[in-house]
Amino acid sequence: MKTCLTISEIQYHIKPFHRDDIKVALVPTMGNLHDGHLSLIKMAKKQAEKVIVSLFVNPLQFGPTEDFEKYPRTVEADLEKLQEARVDAVFMPKRQELYPKPEDELIKMDLPQLTRKLCGITRPHFFQGVMVVVAKLFNIIQPNVAIFGEKDYQQLIIVKQMVKDLNFPVHIVSSPTVRESNGLAMSSRNSYLTDEERSKAPLLYQTLCHIKNQILVGDTNYRHLESMARKKLNTEGFNTDYIAIRTKTDLTEPESDQESLIILAAAYLNQTRLIDNILLTRPI
Ligand code: AMP
Repeated sequence: MKTCLTISEIQYHIKPFHRDDIKVALVPTMGNLHDGHLSLIKMAKKQAEKVIVSLFVNPLQFGPTEDFEKYPRTVEADLEKLQEARVDAVFMPKRQELYPKPEDELIKMDLPQLTRKLCGITRPHFFQGVMVVVAKLFNIIQPNVAIFGEKDYQQLIIVKQMVKDLNFPVHIVSSPTVRESNGLAMSSRNSYLTDEERSKAPLLYQTLCHIKNQILVGDTNYRHLESMARKKLNTEGFNTDYIAIRTKTDLTEPESDQESLIILAAAYLNQTRLIDNILLTRPI
């Protein structure tokens, strides 16, 4: 496994793959790898002959009061996992390598309305930062395929839209959410949870499942389902950011009995922000 700290190193390593038309998959991550990330790598291996993983805690996607400084950084353990997973190369640049200029001197993208709803309301910096780093990684590595987790569903569809709107020659593949046995979606931020919070956390997924079941038995009063779920979570000690039943394709509010919906949620347990979602395809 080749470990590259600089853009020129990773590009030098990848050059022969591009020259020989060997398919390359990229798995972008912020490190602190868990089984969710490893499932993306497995998916990448099905898609391409060479798998590159990036490890970079991207400062641009954190707001001024968010957890950039305390975000778990576990590079040694990550490299061991990546070695074991037999990835071809790891790209782990320092901040200065990707952003040699101060943030306010960088060119950014003007993002559509989709980025200003759900997570975009509480985290106004987030999607801007993600899209800048993803665009840079795509340009540096020029992968044929890139893998993103369904756990970050809004991010996934915004990346897909960016690729389409800006004609990046990359195929975006999504990978299902990996959960703990109690249903809690795996996340690097779960390490912030105390034992007590950890025992409460699976309620977020259970609440999504409850809404799904209600819709499947014919309840179409979505606003009521959302507000009941919010009340339930808040009573149990969550501070709910949003619970939303939306159309799967563009996260707009469903107008009629649409076929493909998604139920998304973000909620805090004290300082820790958890997000999750489940897809729901209604039987016709
Ligand atoms: P992160 O390191 O949290 O920025 O995540 C890197 C990638 O892993 C993103 O595409 C995430 O959607 C994906 N990911 C994170 N957690 C999970 C999970 N539990 N299951 C599947 N994919 C995940």
